[in-house]
Amino acid sequence: MTAAAELELEGLPPRLFSCTPSRLTTWVDCPRHYRMKYLDRPRPTAGPAWAHNSVGASVHNALAGWWRLPAAVRTPQAAAELLDVGWLTDGFRDEQQSASWRQRAAEMVRRYTARLDPRREPVGVERTLGARTRRLALSGRVDRLDDRDGELVVVDYKTGRRPPTVDDARGSAALALYAVAAGNTLRRPCHQVELHHVPTGELVAWRHTDESLARQVRRAEEVADEIVAAGLDPGADSFPARPGGQCGWCTFRAHCPEGQRAAPAREPWAALDDLSTAGPPLTVDD
Ligand code: SF4
Repeated sequence: MTAAAELELEGLPPRLFSCTPSRLTTWVDCPRHYRMKYLDRPRPTAGPAWAHNSVGASVHNALAGWWRLPAAVRTPQAAAELLDVGWLTDGFRDEQQSASWRQRAAEMVRRYTARLDPRREPVGVERTLGARTRRLALSGRVDRLDDRDGELVVVDYKTGRRPPTVDDARGSAALALYAVAAGNTLRRPCHQVELHHVPTGELVAWRHTDESLARQVRRAEEVADEIVAAGLDPGADSFPARPGGQCGWCTFRAHCPEGQRAAPAREPWAALDDLSTAGPPLTVDD
């Protein structure tokens, strides 16, 4: 019996499960990782920072800062300067490697912003959104929210080497939940989700229907039920390890024998030259 069902039997409505899309995705990817990240206290020590995450966060921060500038000074050069000023250095092998990637990332945001209309004000940048469903109190922060002819569009930046596909946009539970939260927060229709690949400027879009959004919400509620049920009986079996190639990139690998057997440890900068088809999972923003 699920936790929700138990509470309903007592005549109480189930308590809403507060979560971000990232939290739900972490459970689906690996319940053991979920336990270490969200439940274990003291929290197990995380591994060192990853250089590819520094690149991704620096690019995201520069693009957010660019949209916060007055429209008249939103130039590609301004984007490159923001990147330069806010560059994060964690995880690189040495200063030389960091400097080389700083240059590449500055060029990345320069080219990406050159394709944008700086006068087209987004509805939100790094905006926090929320929604309540039958089982969930959802919250999350979206990279950008656009207005296209009166409809909201969720924009998510990607910085990996491999451009995302339409299937990535269609299948992303996080993007669908952001669309639900955007529509709920701003009381306007939101069905379109987009992945913008900053290195190439390519974008892929998917237009959800009310039904496909409802399906993603139902699936998210099922995941929440699984998490709550595991929490009621927190044995090792309730939070099984899900070992695989991703374990090489797991920040809790040092605490997980199954993960250590599944994949070799990676250097913190290893993904910089491996952000291709077999690269690490793309970070999903909370
Ligand atoms: S190392 Fe692998 S199996 Fe272990 S917690 Fe991390 S992702 Fe899960």
